[in-house]
Amino acid sequence: MSDMNNEKYLQKSELVRVKDLTFFQRTYVVEILKGMFAAVKQMFKPSFTIQYPEVKVEHAASFRGRPVLVEENGTERCVACGLCSRVCPALAIDVQAAETELTKERYPEKFEINMTRCIFCGFCEEVCPEEAIIMSNEYELAFSSQEESIFGKDKLLKSAEVMKPRLDFLRDNR
Ligand code: SF4
Ligand code: SF4
Repeated sequence: MSDMNNEKYLQKSELVRVKDLTFFQRTYVVEILKGMFAAVKQMFKPSFTIQYPEVKVEHAASFRGRPVLVEENGTERCVACGLCSRVCPALAIDVQAAETELTKERYPEKFEINMTRCIFCGFCEEVCPEEAIIMSNEYELAFSSQEESIFGKDKLLKSAEVMKPRLDFLRDNR
């Protein structure tokens, strides 16, 4: 639209506005009162504010918190295929495979996630053929050193019973 057309358009819209609104409407008193009424109405509605950190938020199973490894009967489900490590866009996962006498034949001798790199994308969960790495509902992560942010199996392993809500959610929504 040319400058001249723009000018005409603006002039026209101004004319329409002046013509359509009464003096009282142009004071916006009613609109201001409506806004104030909406604000006051909110004051009497239940509060959604949570007094964190005293009160923790219990997220739904669909929440994507930090990734964890699923453990069943004292053994991790992971078969150390390395898919999660390959797909991780942040290069946060380090897996080292070793052989085992168990039926699964391979297990992760070392499994580490660098939590300062993890972006909680959930790709590792999506790609895992064993439902061995899944996103948890844990969202509190604070470290005082680089070493603390590297989570090994001791921090990653969670029992399948504890992770049942997320596992059920994944089964129902895949
Ligand atoms: S959630 Fe994403 S960034 Fe974090 S470990 Fe899994 S694939 Fe990597
Ligand atoms: S967590 Fe899953 S994808 Fe990652 S190495 Fe283990 S079995 Fe493979």
